[in-house]
Amino acid sequence: MKFFTVFLLLLNLSNHLYALDCRIIRSQYQCPGNENYPVHLSFDDGPADVTPGLLDLLRREKIPATFFVLAERIDCNRHDAACQAGDATACTSLQYCQQHRNTLKRILYEGHTLGSHSYSHLHLSALPSVQLHKQINRSKQLLSPFLNTTPPVFRLPFGDGWFNRKQKPAVLEALKKAGFKHIAWEMSAFDWRQADQHGDTILHTVMHEICTKKEGVILFHDGDFEQEHRGRTFTAEHFAEWVPVIRCIADFKPLNYFYPDIIRH
Ligand SMILES: [Zn+2]
Repeated sequence: MKFFTVFLLLLNLSNHLYALDCRIIRSQYQCPGNENYPVHLSFDDGPADVTPGLLDLLRREKIPATFFVLAERIDCNRHDAACQAGDATACTSLQYCQQHRNTLKRILYEGHTLGSHSYSHLHLSALPSVQLHKQINRSKQLLSPFLNTTPPVFRLPFGDGWFNRKQKPAVLEALKKAGFKHIAWEMSAFDWRQADQHGDTILHTVMHEICTKKEGVILFHDGDFEQEHRGRTFTAEHFAEWVPVIRCIADFKPLNYFYPDIIRH
């Protein structure tokens, strides 16, 4: 009985401290009020070595997310011939490629949304028509066992073809023709910018974005289109510290909270 009373007291104390912490955090990040804003996390440029660790965290914290992945990362056949001919680099790439395929399976198994981020992260609006269609259709072909929504979702590399959609309508037309729905973002962590990868800069950006824009999809990166394997290590290493702080002002929602016409299967 005594133990239970102490337990209840501690529980009450920890709840109180948690609430108090969030008040401090709100004031620290100049986010007044006590409302939690609906936010959906999205991660681009993966899969990468850091993705499984991030998935562990999302599972622990029960946070749904969307991963917009590069199809090139799971195009394993392209390494086969060179590996069989004795090219050690090709064999290493093949091994990573197979791991990345398993990461995609895990993304699906753990209830997240998976979309295409093109085949190899080029500026799609600068490509000749044949190459543009190839970037979209090849990604669809390779990712089709993993794309888990109707319609399948796509995020354009660099937002190119979306920001400039009036000047470059061919990009969105090609996406539509391939059956994809484009998903942009309302908020960005700017975690791709190397200058921001120190201290609390990214967290501060995220808190400011959520507090001022109040709802929507937020862009992070787990991968790095310039490196095949490692990924955005700063984001992956710090995400566990950022989540409790972000949770003070955000309520994590699945993608179809913002896009009810997207059905996940
Ligand atoms: Zn990207």
